[in-house]
Amino acid sequence: MSGPSSGPPVSLTFGKGRHNMRRIAFDLDETLGVPVIDGRDIVGWQMRPGCAELLDRLQVSFFLLLWSVSPRRYVDKVLSFGLKRWFSESHSWDEMPARWKDVRLLKADFLVDDSPHHRQAAEQFGLGAAYVLVPAYGSPEDAADPLAWVRMVESAVTPNA
Ligand SMILES: [Mg+2]
Repeated sequence: MSGPSSGPPVSLTFGKGRHNMRRIAFDLDETLGVPVIDGRDIVGWQMRPGCAELLDRLQVSFFLLLWSVSPRRYVDKVLSFGLKRWFSESHSWDEMPARWKDVRLLKADFLVDDSPHHRQAAEQFGLGAAYVLVPAYGSPEDAADPLAWVRMVESAVTPNA
């Protein structure tokens, strides 16, 4: 390799930037999409409308992580269908068997989830504002406006945009 020998290594500068980024945790099932099932096998991942574009935009300014209460084996399978592109960090029930997703456990600034359960639990600790509750993919509310969830996430994490 050749190149300038002075100045900070680019990788270290980049690393520091990632470290300082705000963190958004995403739930998996019915938040980002649903698994494609053939018989007893999971053969793919059906991303919900607007998902890839949203994650592409967010990952410029935020560190994205996946937080599922499904088993690690399932999470890894789904990651292998393309979600690895956005999520280098993921958490499953195997490592994090928490009854509710407390954002403080993963130092997350936000959690995007289709389940109201986590926000309800968090409100007891005054943390409700960190929870972005989105309509479940395929629910009647979602079907009526399939991109509403994208707008909800973006307005919650970038309130001044
Ligand atoms: Mg879910």
